[in-house]
Amino acid sequence: MFFESEGLDHQGFCFRPPSEAYNILFQATLGCSHNKCTFCSAFKEKRFAIKDRSIWEKDLEFAEKYCRGQTRLFVMDGDALIMPMRHWEWLLSNISNRLPWVERVSTYGNAKGVALKSDEDLRRLREMGLSLIYYGIESGHPQVLKDIKKGATPEKLVEQALRLKKAGFALSVTVILGLAGTEKSREHAVETGRVLSAVDPEYVGALSLMLSEDAPIYERVRSGELVLPEGLDFVQELGLMFANTTLSDGWFMANHASNYLTVKAHLPEDREKTLQRIAAALDGRVSLRKEWMRAL
Ligand code: SF4
Repeated sequence: MFFESEGLDHQGFCFRPPSEAYNILFQATLGCSHNKCTFCSAFKEKRFAIKDRSIWEKDLEFAEKYCRGQTRLFVMDGDALIMPMRHWEWLLSNISNRLPWVERVSTYGNAKGVALKSDEDLRRLREMGLSLIYYGIESGHPQVLKDIKKGATPEKLVEQALRLKKAGFALSVTVILGLAGTEKSREHAVETGRVLSAVDPEYVGALSLMLSEDAPIYERVRSGELVLPEGLDFVQELGLMFANTTLSDGWFMANHASNYLTVKAHLPEDREKTLQRIAAALDGRVSLRKEWMRAL
């Protein structure tokens, strides 16, 4: 979900999870240090950097004055978790001292960013108030992860997610339907369900691929190398992924505007009724979101 600047110092287009829409959006870094995922055009115009401390100071001053009604703060941009500890320690202690009404601090993280932190670092971040990580898995299929240049294997994605959980973080995990094209749709769904079950996060957010001409994957589609699924194919893939996902106490959400079918399921108890809803959609008994209504 992207937006433009409003009040705080936001440089370029900024992206945040839909659930952070009304929260303090603190842009501590610019861009994404990885910036290679082929489906992602979010930060192509930005070079990764940690913003100057003087800008952080100004933003904290602004938040002290004008953000007293907001109890949640999201640290941007793309993989801010990768910031070295000295920056996180400064930022989290200032948030705690100067914005004491903030109850939740969250950020985007990827497997590489977690791997660069020791277990002690992760515990320290958690103790200092960072509590929720939005963690992109995208797919659990090894070849799909290679194809999209995610920079991590399924094993590494699970390993680093479990380290976050062990340190006490809540995890909101993103997966992307359609990413494997029609050819590997089935394997992508099954393997992603397997990885989600191994991670067992509090939240799963399933998005459906929407192609941007700026994203490198566009070239694979244009050349015919990757054939994207269409409407009901996405629902089929969602059903298979859902059927292969076991969560002990978590939400499986496909309520993003990119999806053809909205699913909001708390697992394990909503399993059967959700599978029935997906089957009904495949039979044409539940209407799908119209193509023109889909959005990122
Ligand atoms: S890690 Fe996230 S922000 Fe960075 S390129 Fe991949 S999807 Fe985009």
